[in-house]
Amino acid sequence: MTAMLCEITIDAGALRRNYTFFEARIGRERLAPVVKSNAYGHGLNETWQVLAPLNPAWLCVNYLQEARQLRDLGFKGRVLVCGPFTPEQVALAATVDADVFVGTHEALESVLAAKSVVRTHIEFDTGMSRQGFAPASAGEIAARVAGRPEIVAGVCTHFANVEDVLEHNYAALQLKKFDQARMAFVGRGLKPLFHAASSASTLILPESVMDLHRVGISLYGQWPSQATRLSFLNESGDVDGLAPVLEWHAPLTSVIDIEAGQYVGYGCTFRASRKMRIAVIPVGYFEGFPRAASGSSAYVLVNGARCQVVGRVCMNMTMIDVTDVASAKVGARATLIGKDGAESISAAEVAAWADTIHYELLARLNPDIPRKVI
Ligand SMILES: *Cc1c(COP(=O)(O)O)cnc(C)c1O
Repeated sequence: MTAMLCEITIDAGALRRNYTFFEARIGRERLAPVVKSNAYGHGLNETWQVLAPLNPAWLCVNYLQEARQLRDLGFKGRVLVCGPFTPEQVALAATVDADVFVGTHEALESVLAAKSVVRTHIEFDTGMSRQGFAPASAGEIAARVAGRPEIVAGVCTHFANVEDVLEHNYAALQLKKFDQARMAFVGRGLKPLFHAASSASTLILPESVMDLHRVGISLYGQWPSQATRLSFLNESGDVDGLAPVLEWHAPLTSVIDIEAGQYVGYGCTFRASRKMRIAVIPVGYFEGFPRAASGSSAYVLVNGARCQVVGRVCMNMTMIDVTDVASAKVGARATLIGKDGAESISAAEVAAWADTIHYELLARLNPDIPRKVI
């Protein structure tokens, strides 16, 4: 493991408040926090450490291996594996007592053939074209599993664009298709948990309220999108319910003076037009600061002041302009994500500089960066 010099801090209080915010809205039994991808970059161990005392009924992950990790950490509740698995892994599902999404005939047959009961959530593809059975085949699927009600723990789907639009007619169409699937199971006398919602739908789509809510990004205090935030603000009058959990800091590791005309960084893309002071932070694209942010309006905070990123982001280092920040000495703390004085930088802002979304930025924060729970 690399001994990285930057550090991620996890605000335990903020994480608890976000959890409680959702628990109060939908209830403990229906809240299934999503901790896949190293808890959206927040650190699975650290996130678990904060969530454990809150006694969540469910946790969602992508891989069966992540369910294994949660069991090793001591989680006794239900673990829902939303990603695909191979037929050889079915035994692991039973061993770690996981609930699994099943959206293909191959996976369904492997579950039916398993020696022990594997609690299955039959997924219908109502509009993502990603994973799941066609709603029109619901009758056939329900008939296939009707003799094994003990394995039919859930019937579910996933929304395609709730966070991307202000009018939710596509989600309404998806819900209509889901209802078709739902009726096939109800008609067979099966009583699975029905679920569709993730963060955005839980926040702004009342029709998505069902038996289980798979809440990911907003557990970490992030709005799924600006559209979701504004819709919520419109309906509920405030957006104080969610607080960002993660901050990212690094010490300045060198500070140098350069003359007008000097170049900065690979490709000589930046040339100083005046005398400047340039500081280095020990964070590059390996650590998770996107190279695509180079040359944009990217900046970091040093003692409450915005310092522009200059030149290209390197693999393990980034140069910033500290000409006007007298206190920017070696060892001073730079903030890549978080608050510093009156200024703050959100994960969504950093993502936007690199033409991506905060989901990707957070998920790609290098897992070897030390995480400190505060
Ligand atoms: C990742 C994921 C979620 C969580 O989505 P957020 O927008 O982060 O709340 C829910 N359901 C499934 C199937 C997912 O893959």
